[in-house]
Amino acid sequence: MTERMNNQTGRHWSRDEMVSHLYGLDPAEGLKPEHLESCELCHSAWLAMNERRRDSLSGMAVSEDLLRRQRRAVFARIEKPRRPAPLWGLVPAAMTALLLVGVSFQSREPVEHIQTAAITASDRELFNELSELMQEDTPRAAAPIRALFVEQTDGEAQ
Ligand SMILES: [Zn+2]
Repeated sequence: MTERMNNQTGRHWSRDEMVSHLYGLDPAEGLKPEHLESCELCHSAWLAMNERRRDSLSGMAVSEDLLRRQRRAVFARIEKPRRPAPLWGLVPAAMTALLLVGVSFQSREPVEHIQTAAITASDRELFNELSELMQEDTPRAAAPIRALFVEQTDGEAQ
């Protein structure tokens, strides 16, 4: 009996086809929506699916309250940072002051060094030392390695 009814209203619906229909998609070729009402097998599955969807939608109504609370928390966080802003605004000024103090300490040291060199050595020796220092482009850590290299070339030369 059901076989004959199926012939009139098309073939049985698969689970995926029912889900697609539930979300408003057009049924695939050979599928008739009337079959979901006339076929006992598909009708019960279709009803169960609709019930499950209704349950999940009612669950979303509960989470609406949660969403509202979350929104309020986000807005509260957005408005909070305005209070400590004046204190944080002082940080760049303090950093600049520290930098200036550091630069003044650093720039004071070489000046004193040059002054002592000028007192103990003649001007020519001082300029020679300064030009040597300025021509040094390798780091001081490389000095021992360079010393080894110089010794080797001396050995080769002899
Ligand atoms: Zn069916």
